[in-house]
Amino acid sequence: MRLRELKCRVYVEFNTLHSAEYLKEHPDAAPVGVDGKVCPPPEGWQGLCPTHVGYRRDRMKAFERVLASYAIDGIWLDYHHAHSSWERAEPVMPDTCFCARCLGLFSRDTGITLPDLPPGEVSQWILSRHKRDWVRWRCGVLTDWVREFRDTVDAIRPGVLLGTFHCPWTDSDRGGARIDKLHIDLKSQAPYIDVFSPMPYHARFGHAQDPEWVHRQTRWLGEYLGIRGKPGERKKIWPIVQLSDWGENVPVAQVRPVLDYGTRAPATGVTVFAWGRLQEQWDKVEELGTYYRSIRGTERKGQAPK
Ligand SMILES: [Zn+2]
Repeated sequence: MRLRELKCRVYVEFNTLHSAEYLKEHPDAAPVGVDGKVCPPPEGWQGLCPTHVGYRRDRMKAFERVLASYAIDGIWLDYHHAHSSWERAEPVMPDTCFCARCLGLFSRDTGITLPDLPPGEVSQWILSRHKRDWVRWRCGVLTDWVREFRDTVDAIRPGVLLGTFHCPWTDSDRGGARIDKLHIDLKSQAPYIDVFSPMPYHARFGHAQDPEWVHRQTRWLGEYLGIRGKPGERKKIWPIVQLSDWGENVPVAQVRPVLDYGTRAPATGVTVFAWGRLQEQWDKVEELGTYYRSIRGTERKGQAPK
């Protein structure tokens, strides 16, 4: 209520495929790698098998609880991608999940009969002969989660924005890995999403001296999804940009250019990553505040740091 009085809008983040706690009591929800064995979390980033019925129900119930309990204005999906550690200059993206459940559903949904081979060989057979079908099917599974999230928003708190924090790569960056490895099909998710929030952390991802990269990624996304950043458009692009030091440092002198590139059309808002470390560097916070005040009342609208 206090935030309402201050005319603040409240947006929350929701962990979809990264709720590692669940594995303690449900080890059968761990992603299985190409060798047919449980795939260890790349650099500690634990993903979950997206076809585990109990896990999906658990996440959907948690999502419902957030919407039913709090008068929020928006909810953003986070880690809605395959088991991986992609938030770095050199991503680690193992192929998963080849558990018996995923293999059975893939065969059922695509009509592709799988050969009677050991688990570690079926995966190779699929990736060498039916890679396109596999990727399409995996993307479809993740998109269906988004469809259900949308239905839940509409049923419980209509009007709340559904956003997603997602990998900022284009279809050709890293050989098409956003789709082929992470299974994020933005076009098929688009009917269900209000706000796309790509995560172009320039310093962390190997573009420390090139903040304009932020804008190149959002510009590509706008063209790709047909979002122009015009008033009244229902779908929006609000990137989350890096101001805190992570991987490479972000100097104070980059605060303004990063926010400038992050708020250019088709973007109509921006979120800053991340308050935890940023609050220890008050010179950057001051610069952030100065920039936000300078665009107040213009087409560019800022959001508080995540
Ligand atoms: Zn699986």
